[in-house]
Amino acid sequence: MLTPEYVFKDVTRITPEFLKEHHIKALLLDVDNTLTAHGSQEVSQAVQNWLQTMKQTGIRMVIVSNNTKKRVQPFAQRLGLQFVSMGCKPWPGGLSRARRLLGVCRHEMAMVGDQLFTDRLAGWLYSVPVLVVEPMAKDVDRGILFRRRLEKPFFDKFYQRGGKIR
Ligand SMILES: [Mg+2]
Repeated sequence: MLTPEYVFKDVTRITPEFLKEHHIKALLLDVDNTLTAHGSQEVSQAVQNWLQTMKQTGIRMVIVSNNTKKRVQPFAQRLGLQFVSMGCKPWPGGLSRARRLLGVCRHEMAMVGDQLFTDRLAGWLYSVPVLVVEPMAKDVDRGILFRRRLEKPFFDKFYQRGGKIR
C-alpha cells in the first residue's frame, strides 16, 4: 500500500501515451515538490509546457494539496486550475472532493505526488493509481526529511521488484 507502482523522474516524464495506455483521463496534482519547490509560487517553463500538453490532450487536472488555501489558491489561479486545499491526504476526503470537481469516475483518474505517506497512501485508500514523482527540490523541512527516511524501504522494495524510474 505504500510501495510505489509507478515512479517518474518528474511530472514532465508523464506522457499522454502512458496515460492513454492506462486509461487515465484525469490527474489530481500535488503542489509542493511535485509541480514546484516546497512553498514556491514559481513554475518552471518545462512544467508549464507539460501542463499545456496535458490540457491539449484533453487530460483534466485539479490540484489537491494538504497546504493552506493561502498557499494553494494563487498558485492554482496562475495555472488556471481548480484546487482542493487542506486536502488532508492520506485521508481520501480531498481526493473525493477533487473527483467531484472533475466529474470523472475513480478508474479514470490518478494521483500525482511526491510523498508516499500522503499521496501514495491517499491513492491506495481511495483506490486510484498513484504516479509518484521524485521530489523537485532538496527538502529542508525536518519533518519531511524524517518521512523521506521512512519512505526509503518502500522505494527499495519498488526497485527490488524490478521497478524502474520512468
Ligand atoms: Mg508534495
